[in-house]
Amino acid sequence: PVLSTMRYFQEEYEDHIKYKKCSALVCKEIVSSPCQYICPIDQEASVYIALIAIGKFEEALNIIRKDNPLPTVCGRVCHHPCETVCTAAEMGEPIAIRALKRFIMDWAIEKGYQSPSRQKKQKKYKVAVIGAGPAGLAAGYYLNRKGYKVAVFESLPVLGGMLTVGIPKHRLPKKTLNFDIEHIIKSGVAIKTNKALGKDFSIDDLFKEGYKAIFIAIGAHKSMKLNIPGENANGVIHALDLLKTVNLGKKAELGENVGIVG
Ligand code: SF4
Repeated sequence: PVLSTMRYFQEEYEDHIKYKKCSALVCKEIVSSPCQYICPIDQEASVYIALIAIGKFEEALNIIRKDNPLPTVCGRVCHHPCETVCTAAEMGEPIAIRALKRFIMDWAIEKGYQSPSRQKKQKKYKVAVIGAGPAGLAAGYYLNRKGYKVAVFESLPVLGGMLTVGIPKHRLPKKTLNFDIEHIIKSGVAIKTNKALGKDFSIDDLFKEGYKAIFIAIGAHKSMKLNIPGENANGVIHALDLLKTVNLGKKAELGENVGIVG
């Protein structure tokens, strides 16, 4: 049986050996907690839930922040794969892991409590990050924690990328998102808005200014196209363009009658 499983499940064997990954979530030696294991950022959900249960909210927030630079976002818009593997579901329903994160973040916003930033000894190297969306902000946060001097360059006048201009504020209120962004800035990440790569500066300029590494995180600001005739005609607005216009406080030209595809 071992030989035949090796033949049919070679990839899974390799995952176990090379990456210590068990996609079936059955190897207890590798998977201590399925929710943490499946979470893309390795969030210690069981720890923050236990802390919430005994009323230690500050500690719960610090645990959340340890692995998550944007917890107010995840507390509202993460698709929470952690809950799909929650073992509590075997006895009823999964634990509301995402909602509990949201609860702690709402509590922190109300109290104005930001976790202390944990920075290692400062290194002399400067790193530039291009784009202040989730990838750029997260990279800036972790690089800063490792002691690098980080500057994030953003072409728009606002930070957050698609989180700000792509998600409507009834799903992700700006005040909540800004709480995370404030934490990242306070931890020491320098931010430069209205600076577009190719227009206001080039990659060479950054190297000349002494940046030793550059992370390009310019985001996914393009809508999916249908590739049908007339798609680019006057009056056709793609979803992300519309959201961006509205979220930047501009007026979308809609005319008298509106047809919606999708
Ligand atoms: S809600 Fe999302 S970020 Fe939070 S623990 Fe679950 S998968 Fe991870």
